[in-house]
Amino acid sequence: MNTTRRQRSAVYEHILKIERERLLAALNPSHVQIWGDDVPSRNNEAAVMHDQFLSLAVNELELHKLRQVEASLERLRNGTYGICESCGQRISEKRLRVLPWANACLTCATRPGVRADTHELCRS
Ligand SMILES: [Zn+2]
Repeated sequence: MNTTRRQRSAVYEHILKIERERLLAALNPSHVQIWGDDVPSRNNEAAVMHDQFLSLAVNELELHKLRQVEASLERLRNGTYGICESCGQRISEKRLRVLPWANACLTCATRPGVRADTHELCRS
């Protein structure tokens, strides 16, 4: 591994660790618990249910992203970071800059029927 690539890996590792910290903080169980001791009245029950639904949906997304971040850190450790898990080609630097936890190249990620992470931002 040359110096440039090692430096780049260090940068991505740093970014991924910061993102992991942010996600762990966002996934704090206190965010999931909504009612606590404060049982809602009949009037706002629907609103609370809606909030709870949204909160759980957001948590699920964050959890999914956290798993991707963890997997990327693992790939950095074993030297396969930046390699598409689907076709084995290098993931472009541009894509990794936008989506450091990408596990597939843009071609594979946007190919219909291939299960890989996709993200609107990386379609540029
Ligand atoms: Zn690919």
